[in-house]
Amino acid sequence: MNSMSLSSSQGENMLHGVLAQFDLAADRLKLDGKLRLVLRSCKRELTVHFPIVMDDGKAVVFTGYRVQHNLARGPGKGGIRYAPDVTPDEVKAMAMLMTWKSAVVNIPYGGAKGGIACSPNLMSATELERLTRRYTTEISLVIGPDEDIPAPDVGTDATVMGWIVDAYSQQRGFYVPGVVTGKPLSLRGTKGRVGAAGRGCALIARETFGYLGKELQGAAVVVQGFGKVGQAAASELAKYGGKIIAVSDISGGTFASSGLDVDRLLKHEKDSLIDFKGGESLTNRELLELPCDILLPCAVEGQITEANAPRLKAKVIIEGANGPITPEADHILDDRGIFVVPDILANAGGVVVSYFEWLQDTQSSFWEEEQVNERLLSIMKRSFKEVLNISQKEKISMRTAAYMVGVDRVAAAMTARGIYA
Ligand code: GLU
Repeated sequence: MNSMSLSSSQGENMLHGVLAQFDLAADRLKLDGKLRLVLRSCKRELTVHFPIVMDDGKAVVFTGYRVQHNLARGPGKGGIRYAPDVTPDEVKAMAMLMTWKSAVVNIPYGGAKGGIACSPNLMSATELERLTRRYTTEISLVIGPDEDIPAPDVGTDATVMGWIVDAYSQQRGFYVPGVVTGKPLSLRGTKGRVGAAGRGCALIARETFGYLGKELQGAAVVVQGFGKVGQAAASELAKYGGKIIAVSDISGGTFASSGLDVDRLLKHEKDSLIDFKGGESLTNRELLELPCDILLPCAVEGQITEANAPRLKAKVIIEGANGPITPEADHILDDRGIFVVPDILANAGGVVVSYFEWLQDTQSSFWEEEQVNERLLSIMKRSFKEVLNISQKEKISMRTAAYMVGVDRVAAAMTARGIYA
């Protein structure tokens, strides 16, 4: 198995991991038993099966999901994933992560996630458009600008969001831009949304280095996953003076100890980074174990496990992907003194700029890119500091501290609302 693909039990493992991490934070917060029960399950789970006529004229039935974990602090928010191995447990785990993520950065959303089990790379643009429009119709029962707002995730992008906003708006009979974020600019998307998660990771790396008293200038950076998040993180860190020594995609990567040319990498149009002429090729497994100052796992979940965690040589890990480190690996890295910034803080830049897009849409008033970036920076800085303070005060990992901040905010909202019976 390629180290960047998922096994069918990975979703189940991820859900167990997210729940175990919630339990740790809930114990420390001495969370009320009733609240724990509610927060350990998802409020709404919609599964849809629907047919699409493929380009060859044959019909295929696809399965899609939209899960809302918690809506106490606001509408559901979270991406839609197109991947062959999307499972209900994986979507539930990701919806839970979105609840904690929105709360950690203190934006007024709950957590949700969607997905379709499909292979977007093997489908034509017209098949993907039909798939997206029909899925949107199926989940239009639960989405909406005040209900639940999808966004891009693995396998989806601004084009897909354009089809979603159109399909939803056609049903309502008028344009509803706030139903989805990560849209093209021409459809009232925001400046600065593309790459926001990756740029947020770079900001967090800068904050981390500031706290650790280290220099980013010349720091060796390794990026696993050279998609939306990884590309933006690598180019931003290169701007801060970081030396990008290795990057990879699903088939493998490229390495140069003296540093890779990120602009050339971004222009590389071949299917695989292995063919990149400016470095030596290496496998994803080798890449993760390279000695470096910062490792950014920006691909998919479950990449750093108890099998490779003892061999990792990074000093700092910034989780660009959701759930790239298994709970077993997390303990090993913690014991080894590696500073890990968790997904729900590190990659929150994406949902933060999604919030800016939704705000602009609801107010029909649009911001310049500088304003987007300034406000993103201030939220990421403030959130890093809040999580770091708890981590130092309680002598716990940044992950447990981030969960404590997130769970505490959601619990406060739920307590104030009371249990409706
Ligand atoms: N898919 C992204 C995430 O996991 C962005 C979600 C959003 O913008 O709603 O955070």
